[in-house]
Amino acid sequence: MSCNSNYIRQDRIKKDRRWKLDTEFGTFDITINLSKPEKDPKAIAAARNMKPTGIVYPKCLLCKENEGYAGRLNSPARQNHRIIPVTINDSPWMFQYSPYVYYNEHCIVFNSEHTPMAINKQTFRKLLDFVIQFPHYFVGSNADLPIVGGSILTHDHFQGGNYTFAMAVAPIEKEITFNGFSDVEAGIVKWPLSVIRLSSEDPDRLVELGGVILDKWINYSDEDAYIFAYTDGERHNTITPIARKNGDKYELDLVLRNNITTPDRPLGVYHPRPEYHHNKKENIGLIEVMGLAVLPARLKKELAEVADAIVLGNDLRSTETLASHADWAEQVVKNHPEINKDNVLDILEYETGKVFEGCLCDAGVYKCTPEGREAFLKFIDNVNE
Ligand SMILES: [Zn+2]
Repeated sequence: MSCNSNYIRQDRIKKDRRWKLDTEFGTFDITINLSKPEKDPKAIAAARNMKPTGIVYPKCLLCKENEGYAGRLNSPARQNHRIIPVTINDSPWMFQYSPYVYYNEHCIVFNSEHTPMAINKQTFRKLLDFVIQFPHYFVGSNADLPIVGGSILTHDHFQGGNYTFAMAVAPIEKEITFNGFSDVEAGIVKWPLSVIRLSSEDPDRLVELGGVILDKWINYSDEDAYIFAYTDGERHNTITPIARKNGDKYELDLVLRNNITTPDRPLGVYHPRPEYHHNKKENIGLIEVMGLAVLPARLKKELAEVADAIVLGNDLRSTETLASHADWAEQVVKNHPEINKDNVLDILEYETGKVFEGCLCDAGVYKCTPEGREAFLKFIDNVNE
């Protein structure tokens, strides 16, 4: 219905660029999404603290009052938008499909009240309650802090759908056990971000253990690994959780996140490094955490411009757009002496995917190195203390 009413603009979605990238972690999905506006991480953080002025209906883009809304200057019309009530953990929530369609049956599940994002034990219960009702859908939540969260922090919501992401099929690289939870299978996932996977036939046990791990993580500091729970009273640790059903078992993936900044890395230490910002500057949110890059619409045109400049041998710094990609483009040419007019776009898309892989590695609080993995296990020991 959302497609037929043109709420989902299939004509535009069809023009999105989609390709795959094989990596040591699995096969990533790389997309250039033409529907979604690119957002600045600083603007997202600022919006969280903004008090609404003047017209406050609907309070945000997710509120249920958007259904059928006529629109105003700074809020789009939603005449053809429809939502479905669902009950999650005995509380009234709402369900809709995403107009951006990052992947098959991309849906948004949101609180019927305009209430801020929060990650707590109840979040895990709500996610699993959704999966119990819709076992063919995964569902996850963005983290509740700026830099490591999604683009809307003011309204509690999840994203789900009928799609298998690379992370969901990534193997366990190390099995672990948690005291008092010998009945729950647990492990560290082979993935660039730091993921603990819990698995059990009993979803209640996942909620309990998830709650224990979250409480420990929120207060956990490890100076050697540059993890600080708080600085100047500001909290930095949180989790991006994802729930799904796999055979007879429920799974809860807990992705450890930290949003600390330094003068060198003002957008975040565990955030794509500045060299990647020509390609991706936005927060690494839930969908990207799972291995699907949502790259900004501008890249489609910009990559074509870079491709032309390479093939024609033009100055890679002759325009502002080209200059923003120049360092990267020069490296690409060096890596691919075979580059020509027939393969240039494929090569640029491949290398764009490699940048995304680098972004995910940057977002991992524990790196995929012997030292990083040792520090990861130190946290697991802390949970068990
Ligand atoms: Zn709202």
